Amino acid sequence: MSPKAVVVGSGIGGSGAGALLAVRLGLEVELYEKTHLLGGRYASYERDGFRLDVGCHAVGSSEKGPIGKILEEVGERIDWVRTKSPVYFVGDRRYRFPRAASEMGVPAQDLEGLMRLFADVMAMTEADLAELDRTDLRRFLGRYTQDRRVEALFAFLAGMYFCVPLEETPAGEWAFCHRELARNLSTGYPVGGTGAIPEAFCRAIEKAGGAVHRRRPVRRILVENGRAVGVTLDDGTVRRADFVVSNADVKTTVLDLVGPEHYDGVYVERIRSLRWAHCAFTIRVALDRPITDDRFVVYLRDFDILEDRDRIRKGCVPETAPSLMVPILSNLDPTAAPEGKQILYAGTGCWPDLARMGETRAQWKEACLNGLRRIYPNLDRHILWVKAAGPDYIDSLFGEEGNVIGVAQTLDQVGSSRPGIVDPGVRNLYHASADTGVHGIGGELAADAALRVYEHLRALGARPA
Ligand SMILES: Cc1cc2nc3c(=O)[nH]c(=O)nc-3n(C[C@H](O)[C@H](O)[C@H](O)COP(=O)(O)OP(=O)(O)OC[C@H]3O[C@@H](n4cnc5c(N)ncnc54)[C@H](O)[C@@H]3O)c2cc1C
Repeated sequence: MSPKAVVVGSGIGGSGAGALLAVRLGLEVELYEKTHLLGGRYASYERDGFRLDVGCHAVGSSEKGPIGKILEEVGERIDWVRTKSPVYFVGDRRYRFPRAASEMGVPAQDLEGLMRLFADVMAMTEADLAELDRTDLRRFLGRYTQDRRVEALFAFLAGMYFCVPLEETPAGEWAFCHRELARNLSTGYPVGGTGAIPEAFCRAIEKAGGAVHRRRPVRRILVENGRAVGVTLDDGTVRRADFVVSNADVKTTVLDLVGPEHYDGVYVERIRSLRWAHCAFTIRVALDRPITDDRFVVYLRDFDILEDRDRIRKGCVPETAPSLMVPILSNLDPTAAPEGKQILYAGTGCWPDLARMGETRAQWKEACLNGLRRIYPNLDRHILWVKAAGPDYIDSLFGEEGNVIGVAQTLDQVGSSRPGIVDPGVRNLYHASADTGVHGIGGELAADAALRVYEHLRALGARPA
């Protein structure tokens, strides 16, 4: 009989690891997902004939990145649409890179500095990148240019990649991710929505003879003699297994599903003190007809986003969102909207004030709409409905205080300082989530963790310890 693995959670990390273990290692995989959705923050669902995604997504390197690698390994295929180089919209003007920086009035010497920065990043070795993880991105940028417009753009990029402030972003991890994007030039959106990815992974599990269960929360990970031996489901059913792979966040896994009594105190404190990435407020706007042929827009209200961030941190909701990431999903994938209609997303960074979200939701929604109105002045005439989702929505589904990514990729939580895929207290227990990925952006960080779990088990001959 094949060894058996129970996977807790169907996010990119869980469904990706489950598919790899089932298809490549021949394990008997049972996956349990607590919600009705498959895919965690990558899940998609329908509303009034429109397809919505839980997050708002561009996948860094699509088929050329870690998600593509898993799909290839497990023999599943999905189609991708390129987002192409985004349109930058600052104030009331549109810009297209690479011309944008000079059109924004960045002085020639700062532009040269910027070009040098990108050239240096492309030439860096792995050792250079690891060393650079000790330097924050703001300081690193300052070696090449002091221009505040460039700094504002980089602050936006740090927010979009990692959902952390510029001065907490490790320059090495930023450089790693930038380099991957620049080499692959394949940022894209999956046809069928982001949910098409975890659905393909789950299909691979089932084709290999495994099982995927929704609405089945795991209550405990069972530990006997220091080994994970299965899980208890919410109705008390016990499912025994040779391996347990947890895609639940690392805090919940260690502190609740396993229990701190199985670890040494230093590790438990480390896990407790891990900080989440920041949160986002997103709106989905359904339109009665197409109003643009843009695919992907990056919006900056002005170059004061750093000052704005401090005000937002103190609890103010801006009248207009200082920045927005706007994928026009039905221009990327026409199946996202009924014929003749359009759907677009807009997401902005917001402070994780879950307690106040109820009273500020309407203001955040309006702030996002005001940003969109600057880009598309005729927006209001064509709105069918707007669905707003703050961090409280993400928190209600997946916990983690509604943050965007998982454990934040900050200076003190990157590289070897991230929690690992191998559980240090319980044998045969693995962590496959964005929290334990080493490199990458969002879903690709989770896929990185899934690949590492697979490679680790393959090296062990898929035999339990
Ligand atoms: C608004 C927003 C925008 C984003 N934009 C992007 C983007 O553009 N590009 C990008 O790549 N990423 C983006 N992300 C981030 C990305 O979605 C996440 O980093 C990634 O999907 C996390 O994957 P994961 O596998 O770690 O976990 P999750 O997606 O959190 O999945 C974990 C799963 O485990 C389940 N689970 C937890 N506990 C249990 C239990 N006890 N029993 C059973 N099941 C359990 C949960 O229900 C969930 O389904 C965005 C996220 C948000 C919210």
